[in-house]
Amino acid sequence: MPAATEVRAAVLREPGRPVAVERVVLAPPGRGEVLVRVAAAGVCRSDLHLADGVLGAGRWPIVLGHEGAGAVEAVGEDVGAVAVGDHVAFCLVPACGLCGPCRAGRPTLCEPAGRNGVAGMLMDGTSRLRARDGTELQHGFMVACFAEYVVVPAAGAVPLPPSIPLWQAALLGCGVVTGIGAVNRAGVRVGDTVAVVGCGGVGLQVIAGARLAGAATIVAIDRDPDKLERALRRGATHVVDADRSGAVAVADDVVALTGGGVDHAFEVIGTPATIRQAWDMLRPGGSAMVVGVAPAGAEVALPAIEFLSEKTITGSYYGSSDVARAMRGIAQLVVDGRLDLDGVVSDLIALDEVEAALERLRRGEGARSVIVIDEALAGVAR
Ligand SMILES: [Zn+2]
Ligand SMILES: [Zn+2]
Repeated sequence: MPAATEVRAAVLREPGRPVAVERVVLAPPGRGEVLVRVAAAGVCRSDLHLADGVLGAGRWPIVLGHEGAGAVEAVGEDVGAVAVGDHVAFCLVPACGLCGPCRAGRPTLCEPAGRNGVAGMLMDGTSRLRARDGTELQHGFMVACFAEYVVVPAAGAVPLPPSIPLWQAALLGCGVVTGIGAVNRAGVRVGDTVAVVGCGGVGLQVIAGARLAGAATIVAIDRDPDKLERALRRGATHVVDADRSGAVAVADDVVALTGGGVDHAFEVIGTPATIRQAWDMLRPGGSAMVVGVAPAGAEVALPAIEFLSEKTITGSYYGSSDVARAMRGIAQLVVDGRLDLDGVVSDLIALDEVEAALERLRRGEGARSVIVIDEALAGVAR
């Protein structure tokens, strides 16, 4: 087993300070854990929320990054499911299999995984990361993959077919399972009418999932013309430019476009205004699915009389399913050419450019930035 090693990692010291790359100390994997050499990592809005401190106090200092892929470098004791050399994508909810939600078939709501994930610790409640001055660092969403190496629970490293380039596989463990899983959770059926509010790295996967599920009409809504263009290429049948419509008119436009509203509206931004929009564009009996992560404390107001029209609103966290199984199934779609992953990638960047990528997310620009950490392993063609 390797000793503790120094690796380059993007660290948030505290919200309001730029995320900067520093050398940190990574302890070797413990029992049931694996060491992974990171190939590439996607920059997700949840990373931005952590960087901006809006998910609650105490979540720093922390190594960011939770959507990524790499190759297993070493395994701790009692690891059977993955082996050295395996290509893996990270799963940020390594479900315990034993708690109430896990037993009830809701592994993404696993209690110890949720508790430790929020605390920035691995499943045993401790960290493998320290700054060079000895300060303990948290693991971003139990992954911390804006770094050259990570130590994660073995269940947080899902083996993948090696034919998928790792810079693309990096997207599987958050954006892809979250987006496509939300479509499954909503129960979209052949012929349904769907709207997607927010066409970033996750919203574009909701669109792909809706297309795979056979939705007849898919309305994509965003302010960024580039993202709307990508949405059309991914299966959207109509687009609504939210800037041109104005905040209030977006829902009216969708209702008009669909002749009375949609069966399913997916909110993939996480603001009260866009959650309300998703509700307002439903037909009677339709359902809204909130996928976007809202800042802690945000509240949404709904016109209560409309419950009589049997509209529903609920949420989906991380695809609401057995994530490893979902990732394997989706990877097969990629291998078979039925789902492309690279169509959502707007920027390939270096680890040192992470703060610039977060700034683009703050401005709502670009679909997904992918940090290429090990170019050869990532399989990036230059
Ligand atoms: Zn994410
Ligand atoms: Zn559990």
